[in-house]
Parts: sequence; C-alpha cells; structure tokens
Amino acid sequence: MEILAHDILIVGAGLAGLRATISAAETSNKIDIAVISKLHPIRSHSVCAQGGTAAVMNEKDSFDLHAYDTVKGADFLADQDVVEFFVRQAPKEIILLEHWGLPWSRTPEGKIDQRPFGGHSFPRACFAADMTGFYEMHTLYGKAITYENVKFYDEFFATSLIVENNAVAGLTAIDLKTGELVAFKAKAIVMATGGHERIYEFTTFSHPSTGDGMAMAYRAGAPLEDMEFVQFHPTGLVPSGVLITEGARGEGGYLINALGERFMQRYAPKMMELAPRDVVARAEQKEINEGRGFTGPYGPYIALDLTHLGEEKINERLPLIRDVAKRLGGVDPVKEPIPVRPAAHYSMGGIKANIRTETPIRGLYAAGECACYSLHGANRLGTNSTAECLVFGGVAGEEAAKYAMSTNFQEFSKERVIAEEKRIYDGILGREGDERVPQLREEMRKIMDKKVGIFRVENELKSALKEIRDIKERFRNIRVEDKSKTFNTGLTTALELDFMLDLAEVTIISALARTESRGAHSRLDYPERDDKNWLVHTLAYYTVDGPKLDYIPVTITKWQPAARKY
Ligand SMILES: Cc1cc2nc3c(=O)[nH]c(=O)nc-3n(C[C@H](O)[C@H](O)[C@H](O)COP(=O)(O)OP(=O)(O)OC[C@H]3O[C@@H](n4cnc5c(N)ncnc54)[C@H](O)[C@@H]3O)c2cc1C
Repeated sequence: MEILAHDILIVGAGLAGLRATISAAETSNKIDIAVISKLHPIRSHSVCAQGGTAAVMNEKDSFDLHAYDTVKGADFLADQDVVEFFVRQAPKEIILLEHWGLPWSRTPEGKIDQRPFGGHSFPRACFAADMTGFYEMHTLYGKAITYENVKFYDEFFATSLIVENNAVAGLTAIDLKTGELVAFKAKAIVMATGGHERIYEFTTFSHPSTGDGMAMAYRAGAPLEDMEFVQFHPTGLVPSGVLITEGARGEGGYLINALGERFMQRYAPKMMELAPRDVVARAEQKEINEGRGFTGPYGPYIALDLTHLGEEKINERLPLIRDVAKRLGGVDPVKEPIPVRPAAHYSMGGIKANIRTETPIRGLYAAGECACYSLHGANRLGTNSTAECLVFGGVAGEEAAKYAMSTNFQEFSKERVIAEEKRIYDGILGREGDERVPQLREEMRKIMDKKVGIFRVENELKSALKEIRDIKERFRNIRVEDKSKTFNTGLTTALELDFMLDLAEVTIISALARTESRGAHSRLDYPERDDKNWLVHTLAYYTVDGPKLDYIPVTITKWQPAARKY
C-alpha cells in the first residue's frame, strides 16, 4: 500500500477547496499542498451556482444592512461575530476574482452589476449572467493550477480521516483509476467537500453531493452542528429538480397558483417573491397542500411566470434558465410559465468550525457547505453561500498553512490503513447479501422527502428514524455487483450511501429534539419560535449507539431576536 505525504491536504475542489488552495499557496511557497477530489474540479457542484454572490459594493448599501439581512434571514440563529466578519470580507473577494479575470456582468457605465435576491434589502448579488458559479470555478481553477507547490489528485475518493490524539494525521482515499487504497499523511487537512442534499430525492444538487466529508469528520470525532436545518429552494424545476435560480425572481419573475393568484401577497406582502427561501417554500407547499397547485403528470406544482420580462431580457440575464426550462421542463419561459416546486437545496448544518474554520480536531479545518461556523443559522440567504466559500475558503487555506508550518507530521500506525482496506474491500465490496444499493438509496430519499421535509411532526420524524435505522441494518447485507477495481462506481455509490445514512440519522435526531419552528425547521406540532429554550446550536457527536446531542449558545453582538416579518 502506498503512503504519500503532503503538508496540507485540501479535500474538495469546489469553490471553497479551490479558494483554500490559492490562499494556502499564497501564504507560503515552501509548503507542499495537495488537493484531493473525487471529481475533476470543474465537475464540482459549485459550477452549477447560478444567481450570484453577495457583497456590499455600493455606497448606498452597508455592512450593517447585509449583516442584519443575514441574521434576520437566519431567524436569529447565526453567530453574529461570524456574520460581521463575513460581510466585511466578501467585497474583497469580488475584487480578487475581478483581478483574476472573472467576467462579472456590468452596468452600462462598466461597473460590476448587482441584482436583487431573496431576503436581501438591497440589490447586492454580483453575477455573471446566470452562470456565476461556472465563471467563478474556472477563474479559481485557472489560478490554482499556476502554483508549483500545489498538486492535484483528481478522481481520488477520500474514505476516512486518520486522527491520533485528537489531531489529524492523514486520510485514506481510493485512487479511482486503479481502485487501490492510498494513505496520505498530512499536518493539516481542510475539508471542503460540499453538501449532503442527495439524502433527499427532489433536490437541486448534483449526484456527488453526498456529504462524505461531514460523515468522515463526524466518524473521526468532530461534532456536526445544526443539521436539522435543511433549506428547501422554492423553485426546483418539475420533474427533475434542477434549479431555477432565485435570480429569475430577482429579475422580476413571479409565482402564481392554479387560481392565477400571486399568492405571496398573503405570506410576505412587502417582499413578496423575494422573501427568504424558507418563507416562500412554505407558502408554496401550503398552496399545494390546500389544493391550489396546478395538477400535472408529476404531481402538483406552482408556476413561475417570466413571460412579462420579454425575450431580450431573458436571453441576456437568464440564458441558462431558458435553456434548462426548454430541455428539462419542456417549456419556453418566453412564452409560458415554468412548473416548479420546493426542492432540497442547502445544508445550513455541517462540521462544527469556529470563525477561523478550526474544528475541535487539531489540524482539521472546514470550509464551504460542509462546514458550520454558523453564518447562515436556521436559514441561508441566496448568494451568501458562494460568498461564504470564497471568504472562509480563504481563511481555511491561510490558517491551515500557518498551522502546518508550525507543526510536525503525526505518526499513525499502518494498522489503521489495513483496517480501512478491510472495511472497504472485504466489508463493503466483499459482501454477498441480497440488498441492492440503488434500492436502499431510493428508499432513504423517499423517507427524507416525505417525513423530514418542509413541514415536520414528531410521529413522522420518529417513524423516519426507525426506517432509516432499518435501512442501516439492511446495508450490512448488500451486494455490489461489480467486483472490479477500475472506476468502480458501484463501490463508491455504496460508500456514499453509507455516509448519507449517518447524515440522515443525525438530521432526523436533531430535528426531533428541536421542539420549535425556526427558519427552515418548521414543526407543525411546535409552530412558534422559542427563544427561551432554543436560541442554541445543536451539536451531534458520533457514538456507536447513534448520535449524542449537546447544545451551545448563539453569539449575539448587536441584534437581539425580533419578530420576523417580510
Ligand atoms: C444549482 C445550484 C445553484 C446554486 N446557486 C447559487 C448561487 O447563485 N449563489 C450562491 O451563493 N450559492 C448557490 N448555490 C449553493 C452553492 O453553489 C454551494 O453551496 C457551494 O458552491 C458549495 O461549494 P463547496 O466548495 O462547499 O462544495 P462543492 O462545490 O459541492 O464541492 C465539493 C467538492 O468535494 C469533493 N468531494 C466530495 N466528497 C469527496 C470525497 N469523498 N473524496 C474526495 N473529494 C470529495 C468533490 O469532488 C468536489 O470537488 C447553488 C447550488 C446549486 C446546487
């Protein structure tokens, strides 16, 4: 078995991982940096980001306004010191990307243009048409590959973290081309492995968004924070779930029910369709549940009408949306409304990290969607995520580099790697049971959609927990049909399902415990927000008997919790 060594390992090459790579390389050209990604970097989900990246770029806007919008959007569960730091850093990232060559959309005077987005009280989404993530990813990747001290391991699938004495020592990964397990030694590791939305069936996320890094950190002893908060985006295209950006509403699109009503008038009379996502998604689901959705072959839906924007504006501002709606929805938004319904879209929770992206495991950092430094609290505002990946990816790269320069490699025994080899090849690949991974995965996703969705109640959560635990048992009895080594996607999808089942369990247990409604966590049996008992973050720790929960306070600097009206 091969053992490689690098000072820093960055796991994940989406926006957060690439930004961390550049930042680490800029911190010192003497440290040896490796980027491990199960996909070619440009296939990371970040490339799908559409609508924009939030930053205060206009003198009429202000840091306090962006911070307050974020805190209010978060239903007051965000750590306000983190939010204040974030809003101040975000504009610097926009300028950096500009200097590195990103073609931001422009105003007629040639300035970086900004469009309105949900929950933001000022138009502060910088964008590149409706393909912002695509341009950001290409800009960062183009920059990251220029450093001589950075090596990319594309199509390496990380399977476990190696931690000794609560400090990172390295990790194990499968080289997908050969199928061999490789061990990496490292002084510092940055987790930047993205979200876990694929635990749901109707989702805007790509197939590889299976939360691997969250599960690896959890199993290695780092707590997962606020996992009950899963964002549902109001406009997943029916039937695929592919995202129709909030930018479509930012440009003036609106939502109608089967009676032809702009129903958001009843739910958010001031901000209407541009209220935060939790509010709009709940409103849509209520319209559907009460029988005012359109009926279609794929179930009830809501219509997103852009027809009044006209062909020229749609082609200029939303070319991808037009293309996607035509190809995958069978409608041309210039001529007819787009069928949509809420889709799982973001994980507010993740690996617990502090404002410097440090996790409770020494030398382990987390950034981007897999992390939770509690910037988004109970509900993230659109465009704050790409901005977060840039800001905190940058922080993580620098912190990891400084730490790596100050420390030595931790030794770890070969037994650790041999045990992991056994788990994967004898355990998962060697099993000869009669359960099939795709079947179990589909069952898990249906349970999560049905019982751990927008509206939650105790008995459904309990039954979901039981069913997920049953699937975990059945997973012991799988058979992966393909026993070969090269690019064995049967094996990697089994490993991904194993990770996802842990995350589904944590999500449900955290949701069961939180007996209030806040942000994206809406309990029909506890409809009110309860600041007296629940203005706290959930921490879930791995134990062999399942997740153990603990709670820590929310950091409040300036803004006391207030009623949330839009
Ligand atoms: C369709 C869509 C549109 C969006 N639009 C916007 C928007 O306009 N504005 C906004 O702010 N946010 C948007 N978001 C959210 C935002 O894009 C994501 O939250 C963000 O890009 C996540 O970036 P990341 O770097 O954390 O992870 P990702 O981009 O998901 O990258 C994860 C990386 O981890 C690697 N990885 C994962 N597991 C392993 C493993 N086991 N071993 C090795 N490597 C692994 C992958 O290969 C990949 O490189 C959108 C999301 C979607 C789905």
